[in-house]
Amino acid sequence: MKNLAIVAACSLLAACATPTPRSLSAHTVDSGVARSPDQLALDFEKADLSLRVEPKTRSIRGDALLTFGTRQQVDRIELDLGRNLPIEAIEVDGQAIGKDRWNNPDGRLKITLPQRLEPGQRVTVRVRYSGTPHVAKNAPWDGGFVWSQTPSGEPWVASAVQGEGCDLFWPCIDHPTGKPKQVDQHITVPAPLVAAGNGVALGMDEKDGWRTWHWRAKNPSTYGISINVGPYKLMEGSYASRFGNTIPLRFWYLPQSEKGAGELFAEFPTMLEFFERTIGPYPFGDEKMGVVETPHKGMEHQTINAYGNKYAKSQYGYDELLQHELAHEWFGNQLTNADWDDMWLHEGLGTYMQPLYMQYLRGQREYFAELMAQRANIRNKAPIVSGKSRTEGQVYSVERGGPGQDIYTKGALVMHTLRGVMGDDAFFRTVRESVYGRPDPRPGNFQPRLGTTKEFMEIAKRVSGRDLDWFFQAYLYQAALPELVATRSGNTLALAWKLEKDTPFPMPVEVLVGQRVVTVPMTDGRGSVEVAADAHYVLDPNSKLLRREEQIERFQQYREEQRKKRQAGG
Ligand SMILES: [Zn+2]
Repeated sequence: MKNLAIVAACSLLAACATPTPRSLSAHTVDSGVARSPDQLALDFEKADLSLRVEPKTRSIRGDALLTFGTRQQVDRIELDLGRNLPIEAIEVDGQAIGKDRWNNPDGRLKITLPQRLEPGQRVTVRVRYSGTPHVAKNAPWDGGFVWSQTPSGEPWVASAVQGEGCDLFWPCIDHPTGKPKQVDQHITVPAPLVAAGNGVALGMDEKDGWRTWHWRAKNPSTYGISINVGPYKLMEGSYASRFGNTIPLRFWYLPQSEKGAGELFAEFPTMLEFFERTIGPYPFGDEKMGVVETPHKGMEHQTINAYGNKYAKSQYGYDELLQHELAHEWFGNQLTNADWDDMWLHEGLGTYMQPLYMQYLRGQREYFAELMAQRANIRNKAPIVSGKSRTEGQVYSVERGGPGQDIYTKGALVMHTLRGVMGDDAFFRTVRESVYGRPDPRPGNFQPRLGTTKEFMEIAKRVSGRDLDWFFQAYLYQAALPELVATRSGNTLALAWKLEKDTPFPMPVEVLVGQRVVTVPMTDGRGSVEVAADAHYVLDPNSKLLRREEQIERFQQYREEQRKKRQAGG
């Protein structure tokens, strides 16, 4: 609090040397701000992170050894690190550099190199820092560090920084394209606590009442790198993959959760089997399928998925939260959006995996029931893709013109509809190529990759041999859903598609007339079908199409009014 006046004055003067401000800058709070030219010049080869986590003081002490390659001449290294984590010292290639050579006024850490770096050269930067990391207001949605306690009063700590980014606790390039090729973690915690990490376990050292847990992960997504500390017990197993490899299964859970944890652990193999059959190989089979029980709801941390669903049961008979987070190993961690504007690739495909899992396990009733629940939440306030570079915050905020939750629900229903248009074979080939960058993924023949909406559309067109621009234009780049206008006169039912931007929409429509299903081609967006004057008809009786439905709009309006009434009533 006492730095507040100084902070306000300094924000007007770019370079004033004062105590480090404690509040986060707008730059740190958001994730995916376009990389500066200095950042674009860097290849992030390795991050070696030593992090001491002190639950008592809710603070961390970090020592980050970062190795970069470069393709251009570089005089300056620019990284992202929240200014509430004051830097104590910086070294470049093992040599300490003066405080005049770096500054971090607004969360953009700029380090002037002692020597220019030529293309092809490498540099290692060491950043030592400490402080109290940003505390999550409502993790994982409004993220940061979660300092919690287990039911028996022991420390239970987690990070969840998808919305805000890696710069909330370590110096990184906070952009989806800023993935390091390798991240080593050395997490030091009070004994006997356990720090469950990303990738492969490299052992634990104990000294003076502190334990250091060592981990190594290849190509982790930036927000997929996480801290998870608690008095965990570990469940272990292995999964014999249909691709010939054996995948270690690991679940760190609280001692109080033995029963629920056992039941959840028993679901791991079925979930893996579904994803491997439907999409392709589990992307990190040489590391592990890892899950850790967290004090927040959940997050797709690579190979150490955060699980906080409290072992809830539903009528569907599986844990939707874990299945959703696990889907992100394919859609998020293996296939990472190159820009947050493409985030529906993570969330739309990830959300479609829940109804699809139900269809795989149980059939049509559960598939359509889950799709219906998702359909009721589509808001259509903004297109799910803008076509421009966006930050994570811009995508999530409906107030700022973003699609918000539609990247989940509308994304899922768009995938359901696309599948109907393309047929299963072409649809799943498209998804597979988008995820792995090749049609024939096998363990060892692919790497995590970056993908875009544009690329997804191109793959779909190539694989199906059809022009699908009309489809993607309508569903991804327009806010309103296509509306099917049906007009009955005499013995004829006339059909016409009506679109927000009046773009072509040759989407065939099935109509059930009496006992018979008639397919109307709608080649130019119009068509008609004979319906006798006293016959009953149903549009799209097999629920293939995502389209405007007034009864859902009325329901949403009613639900909103009820919500306001409840709020007003306290
Ligand atoms: Zn998700």
